Amino acid sequence: MGLLVVGSIALDSVYTPFGETADAPGGSAVFFAAAGAILHPVQVVGVVGADYPLAALKSLEARGVDLSGVEQAAGESFRWKARYSYDLASRETLETRLGVFAQFRPKLPAPFRKARYAFLGNIDPELQLGVLDQVTAPALVACDTMNYWIQSKRDLLLELLRHIDILMVNDSEARELSGDWNIYRAARWVLERGPKMAVIKQGEHGALLVSPDTTFKVPAYPLQDVFDPTGAGDAFAGGFMGYLASTDDLTLPNMRRAMMYGAAMGSFAVRQRRRSAGSRASCGPPGRRSPWEK
Ligand code: AMP
Repeated sequence: MGLLVVGSIALDSVYTPFGETADAPGGSAVFFAAAGAILHPVQVVGVVGADYPLAALKSLEARGVDLSGVEQAAGESFRWKARYSYDLASRETLETRLGVFAQFRPKLPAPFRKARYAFLGNIDPELQLGVLDQVTAPALVACDTMNYWIQSKRDLLLELLRHIDILMVNDSEARELSGDWNIYRAARWVLERGPKMAVIKQGEHGALLVSPDTTFKVPAYPLQDVFDPTGAGDAFAGGFMGYLASTDDLTLPNMRRAMMYGAAMGSFAVRQRRRSAGSRASCGPPGRRSPWEK
């Protein structure tokens, strides 16, 4: 039961009111894989530059992550810089440098094409469409995006919505995409454009699963030690998709259970990382430290 992810493989520089981190391993595909592989083997498609610390990725292999779809290209890795507000609930992107992702054209290894579960992680919608074209018979395709792509590639994103089953975004992205401040109406707007379901992540307030007939809300695990919220959405997606792939059951009750797994993985991702790289207790990328640890 293949579980495929395409997304960014990044070096993140994150500032919080409590500390900062520079060029830490991250990216949507990496957070997804770190969390998803706890439940089911994950196949990753992406690209890194010549400067990427490959050891951080290698230790994902020990968790059941297949990296044969990750290319290393000449040039700089994708870099992202962001600053979080005092309550760690909102953030401002300071810089996005696409680096090798600007020229990347994904080519799936043959076994990846048979994936039954595909997650198109946050990355250029053109690349997300390029991956979707190569997957032969997926049972479920879910997709994430971000303000950067909503603003710069809106038309391609709307085209992508016509071909996917679930859009998974956070509340501010749902509002920006739909142009509606009300989250339930924003979810309906999404459903009218193709997806059968929308998953709206709401940070410490949990997440919603919205279908044409039902709305289901799962709370976030109440944490007292949030250090770096980066990647929580991707870890949520890893838990959600990893659970679905491991059970291969797409009934609504099982989708609801998958939401619980998503919430659990999201909460692991934002906590303080254990120092032992590759620890299964961490849903963050190996080698990534919380900003305050620096
Ligand atoms: P999340 O906190 O779940 O929204 O995901 C944050 C991750 O997304 C970080 O590790 C970033 O490297 C990555 N990221 C940020 N901006 C972009 C972008 N425009 N395209 C792809 N990945 C991005």
